[in-house]
Amino acid sequence: MNFPRPGDYIDIHNHDSKHAEGVFILNNLMAHEGILPEYQSGIIHSLGIHPWFLTENHHDILLGFVKHYAPGNSISAIGEAGFDKLKGPEMKLQHRTFAEQAALSEELEKPLVIHCVRAWDELMSAHKELKPKMPWLVHGFRGKKELAMQLISKNTYISFWFDFIVRPEASVLVRSIPIDRIFLETDGSGADIKEIYRKVAADLGMTTDTLKNHIIKNFKELFKGKPL
Ligand SMILES: [Zn+2]
Repeated sequence: MNFPRPGDYIDIHNHDSKHAEGVFILNNLMAHEGILPEYQSGIIHSLGIHPWFLTENHHDILLGFVKHYAPGNSISAIGEAGFDKLKGPEMKLQHRTFAEQAALSEELEKPLVIHCVRAWDELMSAHKELKPKMPWLVHGFRGKKELAMQLISKNTYISFWFDFIVRPEASVLVRSIPIDRIFLETDGSGADIKEIYRKVAADLGMTTDTLKNHIIKNFKELFKGKPL
């Protein structure tokens, strides 16, 4: 059983994660890397097809890999999956691959981690079309409050972009979003999750320990309290 302990920081989106004392990590495996997880205390994994590394030629192989390994106990979430207007294949293929991964998230009852760049209309319409019961988690968020609230109304959690959230101007956004919907992440950048917590806790006028408690609660909601 691998679950955050009281007092843990949670890094909800990272890559190539190493064990770090007091930090619980959702590590993202991308199908094109072809890497399988090894059990490590304090680290759980999601597996998916990142839109940057999706091509028509490799689609079937990548999807086959995800479908084969995603049902296993070592995979706790699906993704990152999503839409990117700046990098990646044509939208039709991105949409199809996203829908396939969202279907897997439903079937396996594992939450879906989402990468979305300048394609919010596509994401919203995918939600409308697919009507998922599982929660979605949008990582790397740096948009406006209105967009965040629109996502939250669709049972989505928001994890802020590590580089944006430590800026002074991010304070207003942090305060305007319901605390039961937020997560923090480092996304493979090497940023210090503890520093990010400190900044956000200060923005919210609470202690880091209180913020940790909120985010652990969110984590339990996201994973429905299931052992991972
Ligand atoms: Zn990522």
